[in-house]
Amino acid sequence: HTMAQADIALIGLAVMGQNLIMNMNDHGFVVCAYNRTVSKVHDFLKNEAKGSKVIGAESLEDMVSKLKKPRRIVLLVKAGQAVDDFIDKLVPLLEAGDIIIDGGNSEYNDTTRRCKSLKEKGFLFVGSGVSGGEEGARYGPSLMPGGHKEAWPHIKDIFQSIAAKVGTGEPCCDWVGDEGAGHFVKMVHNGIEYGDMQLICEAYHLMKDILGMDHDEMAQAFESWNKTELDSFLIEITANIFKYRDSDGTHLLPKIRDSAGQKGTGKWTAISALEYGTPVTLIGEAVFARCLSSLKDERVEASRSLSGPQGVKFSGDKAVFLEDIRKALYASKIISYAQGFMLLRQAAKEFGWSLNYGGIALMWRGGCIIRSVFLGKIKEAFDRDAELQNLLLDTFFSNAVQDCQESWRRTVSTGVQHGIPMPCFTTALSFYDGYRHEKLPANLLQAQRDYFGAHTYELLSNPGHHIHTNWTGHG
Ligand code: NAP
Repeated sequence: HTMAQADIALIGLAVMGQNLIMNMNDHGFVVCAYNRTVSKVHDFLKNEAKGSKVIGAESLEDMVSKLKKPRRIVLLVKAGQAVDDFIDKLVPLLEAGDIIIDGGNSEYNDTTRRCKSLKEKGFLFVGSGVSGGEEGARYGPSLMPGGHKEAWPHIKDIFQSIAAKVGTGEPCCDWVGDEGAGHFVKMVHNGIEYGDMQLICEAYHLMKDILGMDHDEMAQAFESWNKTELDSFLIEITANIFKYRDSDGTHLLPKIRDSAGQKGTGKWTAISALEYGTPVTLIGEAVFARCLSSLKDERVEASRSLSGPQGVKFSGDKAVFLEDIRKALYASKIISYAQGFMLLRQAAKEFGWSLNYGGIALMWRGGCIIRSVFLGKIKEAFDRDAELQNLLLDTFFSNAVQDCQESWRRTVSTGVQHGIPMPCFTTALSFYDGYRHEKLPANLLQAQRDYFGAHTYELLSNPGHHIHTNWTGHG
């Protein structure tokens, strides 16, 4: 056991794995590196890891023999079968109490399944969301670990050391919850990222087509927005994108084909929302907006025959409308996060997880794509009330929406009059108006269901009691 010198092992030497190893090395941990294709271990030790304390392994047996106990092994391999394959190979080599951590983008149901099967075998399993891309992995990611909580004391120090820091050095990493909770939270993070990006794109569309702003003006607008409540990584990079010029000296942005790609995490968030019956409408619309954009050829054809509103010209004050757009974006963003946390609450209920909502906001506050000052405000709201039912019911956020409301409505109605698609601005407003209504027209819906399908309804005066009416008076 003089060989047992490494604090932790990491399997998977693609870009994420390599960067996470160098990050752990920077923080004083001895990492043992391994990869299915072993030649990559040699390459890594000769290049990126040269001069560091990182050690390599020739085989899984070799790797396991080099680890201090309880053994801590991180997998950063392609999500899916590769994770199960490595777990199957590791199990016979490990002892009860050893810890396997999956840092890939695994589906949360897979993580829950792995938790259950490894627990039966006496091992501890952690499924951790890792966000922030390559740069985050190297210099401070947002880490969202969940699974067997008994593992947390053994990995907390490493995880919180390498995570991004905000404020007075608070780490963007805390224990999320049982089973697949870490990967679920990572999935919702990605869904929220879809929403944030689409909201910015809608603001861009309005600026370009209603206000006729050029790229430099839009860059300037986003730069100034980044000094407001919207202060965030995505607003900052958007300003830079507007400024960016191609090698020929003209702006690159308008030359990019307007057909969005996606890898599926936004879609999974929307699927979960439908599955658990939570109205996460903004993320859903953001996913569909990407789908519609990708029908580029079809849209080109449709644009030749389908017309929009004729002769509408903007006659208002440009500066005022620009501020309206900013407030519409801010209010819509509040709705999106309120919906995202609604989904987290529903999942917690569904699976019996106890989630630390303020901790989640703090984990997203730095290190990841959606990092923003705004998330600090969400953390504060949950600090005021850990059991807050809905973000919109916190005074800070209800006041913020109230302050934006007029601008938000003006933006949406002006956009509609000009025929500009704003799926996320509009769905956010409809959600707000629905959520704040004591009465919705669902009484009629219940009557219809009862009329044609005898699905029954309840009376306002007697909830819980289901009755049926013979609406046609015969039969
Ligand atoms: P990746 O391309 O997803 O995976 C490559 C790694 O997986 C290599 O080490 C490869 O080994 C191994 N691998 C692939 N199939 C395998 C199999 N069937 N059996 C054993 N090993 C297999 O690499 P990545 O982009 O660094 O991402 C790693 C994980 O982090 C993924 O789950 C990804 O979704 C997640 N993630 C990525 C980012 C990002 O920005 N890239 C951000 C957050 C999370 P060989 O070298 O032998 O092929």
